[in-house]
Order: sequence, then C-alpha cells, then structure tokens
Amino acid sequence: MDIYLNEERPEPMSSQNTDLNDKPAGRPFVGIHFKCCNIYKRVYKNRVGDAYEGACPRCFKKVKLPIGSGGTSNRFFEAE
Ligand SMILES: [Zn+2]
Repeated sequence: MDIYLNEERPEPMSSQNTDLNDKPAGRPFVGIHFKCCNIYKRVYKNRVGDAYEGACPRCFKKVKLPIGSGGTSNRFFEAE
C-alpha cells in the first residue's frame, strides 16, 4: 500500500493528570479491514512512530501504513 497518514494532530500531553489514575494514554491506531480474511482489526503505531504496522490475525499478512505529511487523514483502511 502506498497510503500515507497525515499526523498533524499532536498527541495530547496529559501530564496534568498524573495522579493515582495514571492510565497510559491510548495508543494511536487506525482500523484496517483485511479483505483477505474479512476481518476488521486495529493497527497501532510502531515503536519508531513512522508508520502503523500490523498483520492479519488469521493469515498474518502484514500491512504497513507509513506516516507522512500531506497524507490522508483517514482512520480506516482496507487491506487487499
Ligand atoms: Zn488474512
């Protein structure tokens, strides 16, 4: 796939709420519909933070959505 995600929105730094409820901030994700197995799954940003990476839970087909400026702001994709 040659889809780029636009990451203009900065992740909220909720450093003010570091009290007892220090739940980790939700990791950013996009929804992927794996057409190969007709499964919907969330795909999370990788450690480097330059792409969303995941794999089909059934056939383990890998998907990678690079993050770049000027890309789409969609948060739902389909993998062939
Ligand atoms: Zn699959």
